[in-house]
Amino acid sequence: MTTHNEFSRCVAQYDPHALPVSAAQAITRQWATPVATVERVALRDALDRVLASDIVSPIDVPSHDNSAMDGYAFNGTALTSGAPSVELSVVGKALAGHPFAGRVEAAQCVRVMTGACVPQGCDTVVPQELVERSADSTSIRFAADAVQPGANRRLAGEDLARGHAALRAGRVVRASDLGLLASLGIGEINVRRRLRVAFFSTGDELRSLGEPLDPGSVYDSNRYTLFAMLRRLNVDTLDFGVIRDEPAALEAALRSAAASADVVLTSGGVSVGEADFTRQLLQTFGDVAFWSLAMRPGRPLAFGRVWSGERPGLGLPALFFGLPGNPVAVMVTFYQIVREVLLLMSGATPQPLPLIHAASLRPIRKRAGRTEFQRGIAVQNASGQWQVTPTGSQSSGVLSSMSEANCFIVLGHEEGDIAEGERVSIMLFHGLI
Ligand code: AMP
Ligand code: MG
Repeated sequence: MTTHNEFSRCVAQYDPHALPVSAAQAITRQWATPVATVERVALRDALDRVLASDIVSPIDVPSHDNSAMDGYAFNGTALTSGAPSVELSVVGKALAGHPFAGRVEAAQCVRVMTGACVPQGCDTVVPQELVERSADSTSIRFAADAVQPGANRRLAGEDLARGHAALRAGRVVRASDLGLLASLGIGEINVRRRLRVAFFSTGDELRSLGEPLDPGSVYDSNRYTLFAMLRRLNVDTLDFGVIRDEPAALEAALRSAAASADVVLTSGGVSVGEADFTRQLLQTFGDVAFWSLAMRPGRPLAFGRVWSGERPGLGLPALFFGLPGNPVAVMVTFYQIVREVLLLMSGATPQPLPLIHAASLRPIRKRAGRTEFQRGIAVQNASGQWQVTPTGSQSSGVLSSMSEANCFIVLGHEEGDIAEGERVSIMLFHGLI
């Protein structure tokens, strides 16, 4: 079991008030231990689950050499006799699911349909549109250069070879994988249990849907965004509602969340003034690794661990992310910091999110020394190049900027102002949000 000290020591070499995003990602990744429990599920329940072990192919797919075309199967040596044309007698036929039983000799061929087994003695298929048939269809003739020896034959095992890993542990199962597993005759697979993520919002100003909005209050939107983002990752969600800005209520919520979840996400209550309060509270029954990032939006972000017991080490632990309260900051910190940790803890092997180069159609103000994730609208011009325009307001409270945008404009830690036409990196929402 890791100690309290190890947790706080991992940030020792950085300014704890301005941890670079890449350092924060490296630290959080380090604490992401995959869930150990494995479940066996039927194929139809496996979509979006994480494979717990490699799938080794028990058979060759396809199981036999078969024809890729409707045509005639024969032995390719017939093509190399030097004669300008080849004449073969048709000795039978093979359909998909109905193989030709006999052996095919030189100067013979078999009528084959796509997917039919290539008969014994044959290694080549000439497509039907390249042959001339005799009037009684008992023989065919075609140019010797119409096909190469071995053409139009799909080899046994060319899709999946017996004994080889068809899919690797850590893979998040996709639609093609369900079909691939079925093609191997596999109807059940081992997956990791779903990660359990508890979340709640903090703030005396927050109202839940259905409640009236009194002056100064706002509807709690973060729990809905968080629910949706978690749902996309196929984790189990535990909604603990809205918690008032009271240390006792907050502590009780954090401890009961730690008792039932692997990860606890909160929003609000970590910005300047409130940060110390969260930190002090966490230090009584948890550990804090960092609480401030060189990132915009998302500067106030606490990361640590909470325990269900009264002190660190007592009861059950859960990783803790104290996300900012501002609705855009919640989404940005979730995608840039939390998402990868949740995938790793789910047992998945996450791929880095692709960054694309785009020309900025507007100048962008940016301060060096922090990573910014502005919201942008990206389009491809007629020659295929990406161009991006920042959405109007970049305020971290303006959630409509997320709905309007189709990408993050990722401005690196060292980057300064961007001139019109200058190249920037974008991260498309497609497939992510
Ligand atoms: P805080 O980090 O608690 O200071 O909150 C920063 C800003 O985000 C404030 O304007 C809050 O009203 C707002 N905010 C905090 N939590 C939520 C929430 N769950 N839904 C909508 N807005 C929120
Ligand atoms: Mg608050």
